[in-house]
Amino acid sequence: MQDFSEKIQQAHDEKLGRHLVANMNIDAGETLLEERPLLVAPHWECAQLKCAQCMEESYVMCRKCQVFPLCMDCSQHNDFECEFFASGAGSRICKDLLVKNYGICALLKLLLLLEDPATRADCQTLFERSVNLEDYRDGEGMWQEHEEQVVGPLLASGLVEALPTQQLTADVLHAHCVRIDCNAFEVTGRDGETLKGVFVCGAGLPHHCVPNTVVALDEQFNMKLYAAVPLNAGDVIYNSYTNPLMGTSQRQHQLRLSRHLDCSCSRCQDATEMGTHMSSMKCRECSAGFSICEIGPDGSGNWRCVDCNAILPAVDVHEVLAEAGDALVDAKGELQVYESLLVRYQQLLHPNHFLLLDIKQNIASILRAAALMNSMEQPCKKLLARRVELCSDLLPVCRAVVPGISKLYAIALFEYLLALVELIELQFAESDLDKKEYVAQLRIGSQVAKEALDLLRFEPENSAEGYLSDRISMELERIDSDLMKYGGR
Ligand SMILES: [Zn+2]
Ligand SMILES: [Zn+2]
Ligand SMILES: [Zn+2]
Ligand SMILES: [Zn+2]
Repeated sequence: MQDFSEKIQQAHDEKLGRHLVANMNIDAGETLLEERPLLVAPHWECAQLKCAQCMEESYVMCRKCQVFPLCMDCSQHNDFECEFFASGAGSRICKDLLVKNYGICALLKLLLLLEDPATRADCQTLFERSVNLEDYRDGEGMWQEHEEQVVGPLLASGLVEALPTQQLTADVLHAHCVRIDCNAFEVTGRDGETLKGVFVCGAGLPHHCVPNTVVALDEQFNMKLYAAVPLNAGDVIYNSYTNPLMGTSQRQHQLRLSRHLDCSCSRCQDATEMGTHMSSMKCRECSAGFSICEIGPDGSGNWRCVDCNAILPAVDVHEVLAEAGDALVDAKGELQVYESLLVRYQQLLHPNHFLLLDIKQNIASILRAAALMNSMEQPCKKLLARRVELCSDLLPVCRAVVPGISKLYAIALFEYLLALVELIELQFAESDLDKKEYVAQLRIGSQVAKEALDLLRFEPENSAEGYLSDRISMELERIDSDLMKYGGR
């Protein structure tokens, strides 16, 4: 199921457990690992039946087992899971098992992989990382959802009796659910639906908030891991399980919640967040300074201005962040609300603060959607210029926190490109730009498009990123043809 490149090898130590290290010096873009998923399954809350083979919507069931959905295009699904219900230990179980409780699909598939001698060993590799159920029991969200959607219905289905050697109890089933959630990558099917994909090696990569690899996933759910930056022999291979555009407090909160992980990577320990100041506050004492968090030996943080040394109590910082977080949730897509939040929090936060970036991205996407639907009376130049500005504000921060080859930065460049081209075409049409100015702007657009394409060149063709590359190439062709026409080259 896995195909290791000779450039990496397995290693083991106390802190990271089983992990991978570079065997030699590796260039950015080089493939390190290719892997088929152990398991692809819908999210727990998914109610739409999906083909057990290709994971596209299906309203018909497999004729043989009558338990799993199987679409018209697929003739069969996993032999073991089909036989289990057709003629094996599961044949006496009610056939509408999945129709009634589709939430159990992922866990059911995992139990059958565990039962199948051919895949048991792979599952057990995944299980080496222990789950402490007490961390999850009665915790936020997860446990209750698993209980209602998965564990309860599965216990009531008679499946436990059909799989006696696994000694399945409610706690064992809960631990399996946690393992699926903790190890799954978000994969996208051909119909655009997001699903969970569990990869045995991929899941074992340790976390770093500035990962040195990129995970590429195609429509057939194949995973390719490649180097984002040049690696030296002996470097640990890292992946990131958080959004790099979140600030340190947000990322750490998310990692604790989803993986019970306390991250102490270099970015987490750097109060300036790689010079971006994504978590810095404006000083309340002096006009120009910013307060950053100094983590003490006991883990508690004090906020201090880098210019005037004034102390900003941590409780004040938390209060501002909590209030802004709530306000963002309440904004519910309202443009005016976001604009007023931006005005308010620009007075309190560093211009690169993650909350301001979040507000700006929300505004930019509302403006983009409005332009697409033509819902503004005229594609007002002021709004287009605003979108260009918002998109360009994100670029330097995004570049700093995801160095090397980055899909995220490519997407940020694409958003900027779309806004820029739309604006300058309108400005040129309305004679706000003369030919020379228009050509100069087109050249910027052409550079941006090329940079984005360069960052996506290691992505598979049949993936969301592959299609994005096609889209950017089209845009580049249009720019180049205008450059030919007006720029005379
Ligand atoms: Zn199918
Ligand atoms: Zn079947
Ligand atoms: Zn970190
Ligand atoms: Zn100050």
